[in-house]
Amino acid sequence: MITKANGTDNLIINSHEEMINAKAKRKKDGSLAKERGMNKEAVIERVRKMTALMKELLANVHNLHVDLMEGNEKTGENCRTVSLIPGFDCVNCSHCLGECYDVRNVCITDTVIYQRAKNSAIHKADPERYWREISEQIKLLMVTELRLNVGGDFTNEDFFYIEKVAKENKSCDILFFTKNYDGLNAFLDKRNGRKPKNMQMIASVWEGMPFDNKWNVPCSHVLHNDGRTTAPEYGSVYCGGNCSACHYFKQGCWTLKKGDNVVFLYH
Ligand code: SF4
Repeated sequence: MITKANGTDNLIINSHEEMINAKAKRKKDGSLAKERGMNKEAVIERVRKMTALMKELLANVHNLHVDLMEGNEKTGENCRTVSLIPGFDCVNCSHCLGECYDVRNVCITDTVIYQRAKNSAIHKADPERYWREISEQIKLLMVTELRLNVGGDFTNEDFFYIEKVAKENKSCDILFFTKNYDGLNAFLDKRNGRKPKNMQMIASVWEGMPFDNKWNVPCSHVLHNDGRTTAPEYGSVYCGGNCSACHYFKQGCWTLKKGDNVVFLYH
């Protein structure tokens, strides 16, 4: 069945076109907002600000600890998140950084900037501690849904740490998107394609970025207002924008299988 993975309303989306039209209908005048990236200088400035703070925090990193953020309007009430610095902590973002949702819309407030810089400093200084503290926080807060790296990406070693966190916390479903395709493939090569059930990995496909999906992992795609997309024409799940609802209704990214695809409207 092809659906919009929303869990919050009854709208069923069956095609790229319907998804674009549904977005237009939500606007009073039925028009679509113009797609806007950010100019290069503005992106660099935002990343620079977070990176400069991260370097300051490194001096006192032993006294800092990782926090899992509460869910927000996009991830939903119950879905905690923990993220790094977009751009600085990404390993493969030359094509997408200028259009990064996280840089444009999330890394704005002092709180978010501090959290990202702090996490990045701990991750840089001691990745083993970074992931151990995430595992401890999951237990302490009894987290059942966690999205990793709404911003930032993983090093090759991180995939093995995530596997460990998933094995230590079987009651917590862990979801992440990555463009570190080489790291993802290297991890799966080492594990012969196997991973813990509660470690849900999705390759974030981006126009113009080659990806050898040798293990056939589920993929995410952007759908542009003009219909341009890397997603296949049929058979995708369409994101409704509430990960907690998807988790509750057992749909969306949480349940994608090998070869499945999820589509996000450009935002
Ligand atoms: S489809 Fe995926 S990203 Fe969209 S709301 Fe559901 S779980 Fe979250």
